[in-house]
Amino acid sequence: LDPNQKSPSRRFDPHQLRPPHRYIASIPKEYFCPKPRRTPVADLKNDEQIDAAVQAGIFLYAFCFNNQHKNTHSVEQTAFLADVFGSRIRGTSPTAIYVPERRIYEIGEICAVGCEAGCHGDDCYRLQANQVLESVMLDQLIATGNLMAVPTGVQSIADIPFVLDIDLDYFRSIKSLSPEDTTTFYRLIRDSVAITIATEPNFVKDLRIDDDLTSDLARAAVMAHIQGALSQ
Ligand SMILES: [Zn+2]
Repeated sequence: LDPNQKSPSRRFDPHQLRPPHRYIASIPKEYFCPKPRRTPVADLKNDEQIDAAVQAGIFLYAFCFNNQHKNTHSVEQTAFLADVFGSRIRGTSPTAIYVPERRIYEIGEICAVGCEAGCHGDDCYRLQANQVLESVMLDQLIATGNLMAVPTGVQSIADIPFVLDIDLDYFRSIKSLSPEDTTTFYRLIRDSVAITIATEPNFVKDLRIDDDLTSDLARAAVMAHIQGALSQ
């Protein structure tokens, strides 16, 4: 209803409002939904809400820590992978990174920080899973993120205004919920503008290595950490 409408006969008059049930019934069918309407937001899956926010310009960039060894490749790494029969100049560190087309950086360590196995495999899974919130791992991921962020002009990804989004399928073991050193995680919690949590109950089940780990358990642990960080 527009109170500034020009036609006097259609001018907004609060006394003319119909009783609620009549009013609801008078809404055109296409706008009337007896059950909660599914919004486009409800249809977003996995990290699509982050992608949507970046593409909409709400966020400038996203730096996504994962424990699936995914990394945005550097110029050298991309050249190495593309140059199958060429000089094979290995690029192992992200010294020159493209700004990814969708402005989402993927950052994941190859294994647990400090793992000295010659070949990382099944034996490393638990070691790495347990470490995802430890400061030694988060510091390493932030350092890698800072290197990747150089072309964006962002000097330190944890020192600019950021939203901390925690997907609960990041956790795969019970022990991962109780890091021994919470310094960096708590600093991220305190420094974030806002915290969002994606519960991902099905992915928690798919990816967990401890059968007792559930999305509810992980959410309770994260909420306790948030309380702990904010009360320090
Ligand atoms: Zn390893």
